[in-house]
Amino acid sequence: MSNAPINPYEAMQASLRVASELYGLDDALFKVFMAPTRSMIVSLPVLMDNGQWEVFTGYRVQHNLTRGPAKGGIRYDLNVTLDEVKAMAAWMTWKTAVVDVPFGGGKGGIVCDPNSLSMGEKERLTRRYIAEIMDIIGPDRDVPAQDMGTDAQTMAWVLDTYNMHVRRTENAVVTGKPLSLGGSLGRNEATGRGVLITAREAMQRLGKPLAGATVAVQGFGNVGSQATRLLHEAGARIIAVSDSKGAIKNDRGLDIHALLKHVSETKTVTGFKGAEALDPAALLTYQVDILVPAATENQITEDNAPKVRAKVIVEGANGPTAPAADPILQENGVLVVPDILANAGGVTVSYFEWVQNRQGFYWREREVNERLVDYMTHAFQATFATTDKYKTNPRIGAYILALDRVAQAMKYRGFYA
Ligand code: GLU
Repeated sequence: MSNAPINPYEAMQASLRVASELYGLDDALFKVFMAPTRSMIVSLPVLMDNGQWEVFTGYRVQHNLTRGPAKGGIRYDLNVTLDEVKAMAAWMTWKTAVVDVPFGGGKGGIVCDPNSLSMGEKERLTRRYIAEIMDIIGPDRDVPAQDMGTDAQTMAWVLDTYNMHVRRTENAVVTGKPLSLGGSLGRNEATGRGVLITAREAMQRLGKPLAGATVAVQGFGNVGSQATRLLHEAGARIIAVSDSKGAIKNDRGLDIHALLKHVSETKTVTGFKGAEALDPAALLTYQVDILVPAATENQITEDNAPKVRAKVIVEGANGPTAPAADPILQENGVLVVPDILANAGGVTVSYFEWVQNRQGFYWREREVNERLVDYMTHAFQATFATTDKYKTNPRIGAYILALDRVAQAMKYRGFYA
């Protein structure tokens, strides 16, 4: 067993290699998929509130543009690296192909601690970043959205900076915007709703109802908190949750309404009165039906995978399971709904938002949610049909489904030399 940190890009490449071999992917296409099309590194001087200048590092990576403009979020986090952004961009290529929306894969990030920045600093940092990557983004080139450490306000600054430069309204340049700037109803909860839809499908595959199932959720950001709320409303019993400060549990079921109120007041799940403290590492191996890792990469590794007791893992985060853990989970009969399917609800509603912006015609929330169910259940069925056909695990099944779709498009286009 090794405790070496797992490089997320190498993790993406490891799954891609297994999927490509099983599928029999053309060698030229395999080589193309192994490296991103374009990686941009920018230095961002920002005037801080104390009068000093700081220089931040930002990235924007476009992994593959065959099926459409690049699509993917912008992450603000101290652990952002070029390899992490490259991995996330590639996962967006596969994710958009799994749900079959007409985009390629992109991702951006800035190395910073968003919690220590004032609103003004965050705004100046965002605007400088967008000005620097201006030439490679746009509604038909690359469409950012939110991710860890960014939100609808950040997307509003992206929109404004871009529009000021092009001197016209181009609200399809970014998704996850506030409603008043052309955002879509249902986008804020879309990733959590996708987790709900795929969790229900996975339980159905096991012949079990979602109502009454016990759930543990790791991470209480946008994805974790929305998934918690929606799973609770669907009748599941949430018995353990965690965030970066700690974990809590209540085997009788947490009072989610009261918990959400506690989190909005204190910004953490810890200290919630209706629960006991739990070791955050123990949450991943807690006795539940459904485990939702919705925090960050490499949480389920070869070390803790043998101890996972959940029947189903629904990956709300990107890359929460290290490649070496997959065979262990498969061997132990744990049904993994892989990230590129489970958390694709966000980018699916981002696609709906981009469509609405370009139509100039906005949909009711009910229409958004119904279409999301349609896209996600199709993607789930297609992923598991591929998994069964190739007698593999669902992650490799999802990769094969995705690379087949991208490969078909690439074959039609050919290589421009
Ligand atoms: N950042 C989200 C993801 O990883 C959303 C991307 C998007 O909507 O473009 O899927």
